[in-house]
Amino acid sequence: MIIVMGLPGAGKTTVLKGVKSDYRILNYGDLMFEIEKEKYGIKDRDEMRKLPVEKQKEVQKLVAEKLSKEEGKVILDTHCSVNTPGGYYPGLPFEFLKVLKVDALVLITADPKEIEQRRTRDPSRKRDIDDVALHDLMNKAFLAAYSAFTGAPAVVIMNRQGKLEDAVAELQKICDIY
Ligand code: AMP
Ligand code: MG
Repeated sequence: MIIVMGLPGAGKTTVLKGVKSDYRILNYGDLMFEIEKEKYGIKDRDEMRKLPVEKQKEVQKLVAEKLSKEEGKVILDTHCSVNTPGGYYPGLPFEFLKVLKVDALVLITADPKEIEQRRTRDPSRKRDIDDVALHDLMNKAFLAAYSAFTGAPAVVIMNRQGKLEDAVAELQKICDIY
């Protein structure tokens, strides 16, 4: 499994769409949303990060159980950390990360100013206007921890404004290794 992470607005989903491979792309947020719709009556995916952390953790456990059964070439589209009202919460707590077979950990990021602009231009989502630079820094710290824990290499890809193809090519190179 290749785990691809990135801040909301970094362009993770868009970069992933550009990659040509036989990988199946699974979206962690989709899996969470399915469960939380049923369990907690959540109606909007941007409400999920506002749920009490212990509820998010419960759902993460269910998602991890599902993912641990996945065979073959899978890319997981998820978050390094989630900006909850209670603080930055790890997207991959070690107790759940340990049940996954991880080949590589990829963080897609961009200039914080560009990310802020992308968020304000995306009417389909309720993106927070928060301290993007700090969240990005925290994500890099979480990424290094996940890499040290799993032994899988960490990759940071910059998705620069107007240079989507470069970011796609970098991710393509990683996917072609495994
Ligand atoms: P996305 O559409 O990729 O921005 O993901 C939507 C939402 O899914 C995020 O805002 C989080 O609430 C949730 N989510 C995604 N990945 C994780 C994760 N690993 N742990 C906890 N929540 C997550
Ligand atoms: Mg996305």
